[in-house]
Formats: sequence, C-alpha cells, structure tokens
Amino acid sequence: PIEPWYIGGPVIKGFGRGSKVLGIPTANLSTEDYSAILSEHPSGVYFGWAGLATRGVYKMVMSIGWNPYFNNTEKTIEPWLLHDFNEDFYGEDLRLAIVGYIRPEANFPSLESLVAKIHEDGQIAEKALELPQYSKYRDDPYLKSSP
Ligand code: ADP
Ligand code: MG
Repeated sequence: PIEPWYIGGPVIKGFGRGSKVLGIPTANLSTEDYSAILSEHPSGVYFGWAGLATRGVYKMVMSIGWNPYFNNTEKTIEPWLLHDFNEDFYGEDLRLAIVGYIRPEANFPSLESLVAKIHEDGQIAEKALELPQYSKYRDDPYLKSSP
C-alpha cells in the first residue's frame, strides 16, 4: 500500500475524447494546481475515493497520463467514479483520496482492448476498496470538507 495523497478542485471540461460514449466518463481536474504533487507520482492507473460535496463519496479509478494535446508537457487527471449518475457535475468540487496504484500507462492495439483494460481496472478498484486497508479512507475528512 502507498500513503494516500489528495487532490481536488472543480470538475473541468476535458478534450472530448468520447469517454462518455464509451461508457467511461472521466471527471477531469485541472493539473495546473498540482504540478508538484503530480511530478512525484508516475503516470498510470490509480484507485481511491472521490467526494462530491452535495452527493457523497464514491469509489473511483483514475488515469494520470501525458496529454498529446499539450505536446507531452502536461499530464491529465481523469477519475472515473464507479457509480451511475443521472447527470453531469461539471464545476462541482471534486475531492480525491488516492490510496493505491494498479499499473503504469500502456499502449493498446485497439480501442476495444483499451476499453476492456479500463473495465478490468475498474473491477480491481471495486474489489481493492473493500479491503480494510483501503476502505477506511472512505471516511477521510478531506473528501467532505468544503473548498
Ligand atoms: P470530458 O472530456 O469533458 O471530461 P467525459 O466524456 O469524460 O467528458 O465526461 C465526463 C463528465 O461526465 C464529468 O465531468 C461528469 O460531469 C460526468 N459524469 C457522469 N458520470 C460520471 C462518472 N461516473 N464518473 C465521472 N464523470 C461522470
Ligand atoms: Mg473526461
């Protein structure tokens, strides 16, 4: 297990890669405020807990990776909350407690294999977050405090 780390802020618009169309919406956070903490953590797939002030705390699996739109100079933070929402929550304050690491970034031969891998990541996160060593962070006060 890793020490948990924390990031949060308003949910911003991403770059419309069709993640919602694929059934994998990701609530992007701005990387600007977090360049220091991000540089301490390698690109890859992480899991943890996500707090939305007016909604609750949810399991999440998150990709942190380089964005070709920024000439590989900036990472994106893309958490997928493992919950079905009936609406978007752009602009809402999203807080993340990142408690575990699944795998490094990887290339995939097809979109289908990428989507399959993300669903596998989601199942790993679902299970891991039930373990006492990770589930205890569901109650982390950071997830509930206001900005
Ligand atoms: P964008 O490129 O703007 O990030 P996405 O296709 O990734 O667009 O969709 C992300 C948006 O969908 C989020 O900002 C959020 O408002 C909404 N959303 C709905 N359900 C979820 C979910 N389970 N996890 C993450 N975001 C979700
Ligand atoms: Mg997104």
